[in-house]
Amino acid sequence: MPGTANDPIDEPAHAEAPGKPARRGKSTPAKDGSGPNAAKPSTAAARLAKLGLRRPVDLVLHLPLRYEDETTLETIGEATRRAGLGLAAQVEGEVVSNEVTFRPRRQLVVKIADDTGELTLRFLNFYGSQTKQMAEGVRLRVRGEIRGGFFGAEMVHPTVRPVVAEEALPDRLTPVYPATAGISQAYLRKAIGGALSRTPMPETLPQPVLRGPLASLKLAPLMDCLRLLHNPPPQESEAALADRSHPAWIRIKFDELLAQQISLRRSQAARREKNAPSMPRRADGLLTRFLAALPFKLTGAQQRVVEEIAADMTLPHPMHRLLQGDVGSGKTIVAALAACQAIDAGYQAALMAPTEILAEQHYRKLSAWLEPLGVPVAWLAGSLKAKAKREAVALAESGEAKLVIGTHALIQDGVRFANLGLAVVDEQHRFGVAQRLALRGKAGAADATAPSDKAPHQLMMSATPIPRTLAMTYYADLDVSVIDELPPGRTPIVTRLVNDARRDEVIERVHHAAAEGRQVYWVCPLIEESEALQLQTAVETYETLVAALPDLRVGLVHGRLPPVEKVAVMEDFSANRMQVLVATTVIEVGVDVPNASLMVIEHAERFGLAQLHQLRGRVGRGSAESVCLLMYQAPLSPTAKERLATMRETTDGFEIARRDLQIRGPGEFLGARQSGEAMLRFADLETDAWLVDPAQEAAELMLARFPEAVEAHLSRWLGGREHFLKA
Ligand code: ADP
Ligand code: MG
Repeated sequence: MPGTANDPIDEPAHAEAPGKPARRGKSTPAKDGSGPNAAKPSTAAARLAKLGLRRPVDLVLHLPLRYEDETTLETIGEATRRAGLGLAAQVEGEVVSNEVTFRPRRQLVVKIADDTGELTLRFLNFYGSQTKQMAEGVRLRVRGEIRGGFFGAEMVHPTVRPVVAEEALPDRLTPVYPATAGISQAYLRKAIGGALSRTPMPETLPQPVLRGPLASLKLAPLMDCLRLLHNPPPQESEAALADRSHPAWIRIKFDELLAQQISLRRSQAARREKNAPSMPRRADGLLTRFLAALPFKLTGAQQRVVEEIAADMTLPHPMHRLLQGDVGSGKTIVAALAACQAIDAGYQAALMAPTEILAEQHYRKLSAWLEPLGVPVAWLAGSLKAKAKREAVALAESGEAKLVIGTHALIQDGVRFANLGLAVVDEQHRFGVAQRLALRGKAGAADATAPSDKAPHQLMMSATPIPRTLAMTYYADLDVSVIDELPPGRTPIVTRLVNDARRDEVIERVHHAAAEGRQVYWVCPLIEESEALQLQTAVETYETLVAALPDLRVGLVHGRLPPVEKVAVMEDFSANRMQVLVATTVIEVGVDVPNASLMVIEHAERFGLAQLHQLRGRVGRGSAESVCLLMYQAPLSPTAKERLATMRETTDGFEIARRDLQIRGPGEFLGARQSGEAMLRFADLETDAWLVDPAQEAAELMLARFPEAVEAHLSRWLGGREHFLKA
């Protein structure tokens, strides 16, 4: 029984036949769905749901990331002759040796051979199971880029699978789907193939739209496009499929952009219908007194964004504004001024930050500014003792606290506000959409018998500069303010790349900086595969530095530290009782210690650009010249090289974001948390910008004249996800 396309998946597709080894994607190392037990319906459906695949139509619209050409097989001799050209090859051979070596670093080295030659396979990250899978004598089919290594031709991290007897080659390109741990490509292919054959996908674009404003696009029928993309016939252009310029991709991208444009218009309309408290600015209020008491003058850019926000808050409709400003540009004060305006108008304000360190710092700073002016500020975090927490919750609920600052603890059940008028979310990209919504939902709910019909104004802040077009599209109905100027008196940060082999010199530098009264951050390497390992590395680094710098006070902060200790260490560092702070990426966001002027990042090649930029932004906050040393371990991959070069060449967050986007593409750029639910999975705002105008035109026409088509189209593309747009 096929059901309709938009129903939930009630009958999971059959798992892979037992015994046939599935190919292992990079993200599905140890377990995959290829075993005989993988067909357990609940787990299969749950795993698909993790990818957002709940309905047959979701499977049909789960399109390949890329394709692999497995239709040909070369001999090792043929393939190695092309070594170093950066080309992919597929070969088969028998494992002749398999060993784990430790120089220059721990790695698995496997050699395979056929009658024509030998090829080395190198794995820098590997699992025990892989060593066994590639035992001597096993016949392997491997695919990857052939490089001319030091000891002859090699492949680094190839795709590998054992082959049993003679196995026929496929005659079509093999789709590679976005996957997650626990779901193999083989399983996905089967599930998607099944859904594709069972699920009707009727046209949602009305003929008058297709033949009217869209005529010149010559959009191909959707179903044909989907079949082609999931299973491209051999004669199709591999290049056009790969770069997504193929007409089948164009159709998909258009439909996706159309869904986005329709719901964008809808959520804009919905917001204009909602009420929010109007908060006129008062000349004699807190805001004025606060500005007068500030020890510095706002920059021009700060003044401009303060005006933009203030104007929004005087309107009786909820503000929905993103404040972007590079690290150190002074967003906190802007948030504080907005809070003053809300408080002046008789409302409460809340400020939520993603980490306890950051939230605590905001609390200190803002209460130091505001309490002398008679504004009660409350602090709410997970680490508070039960009694203190109860007190903070009571202050929020009674309305006594005019400003409440905290972490996720702010949005927990049981926390209510008397009359929340402004919700500020700092480093908003660190929060899920649902969490941002939850804070907004806290407005005036204290008295449940008289629910408020007013939504609070919402201000989101981010130092991860998202190019404007991307912001508008991902966060849909959003106004954007940008602080494009740093406070005066900052000296630019000098960034240097240092080979890991010169660690002693780096330590000497740390010593020197401390001798001059400066403070130092030392950031430990990112180890994605294991948090335990990362912690161990951090502890080891800490111990090494303690031993190497006996006359300095060295501290350690990491994610596993109890919040109270974390805060204590940060306090010591802020107060300059500690010269060197060894840290994992917990200090990535928002920490502000102006006296720190040296930043050392170990294994910088493992970090993403946005992360490096955030980390580097912890220094250069005072008047002393700041230095950032990016230590790396050679050899660097081409993208790592590009990232580090970017870091050395520029400190401009927007430029860095632009290059990051170039290197990675928008989906990944926004991080898994956003992209999982983000709207645009296929369309690329740079290359597909030409489709936006026609999509807007079609959206307007459909909203005006074809309401049923609108519903069908939104349901297909967004399912239950439309609310994410309104965040
Ligand atoms: P971010 O935008 O990264 O959140 P902060 O708000 O933490 O930046 O500000 C960074 C530092 O600059 C803080 O120490 C803050 O007090 C200071 N600052 C902010 N605005 C100004 C200004 N107009 N003039 C001088 N210093 C400022
Ligand atoms: Mg900040």
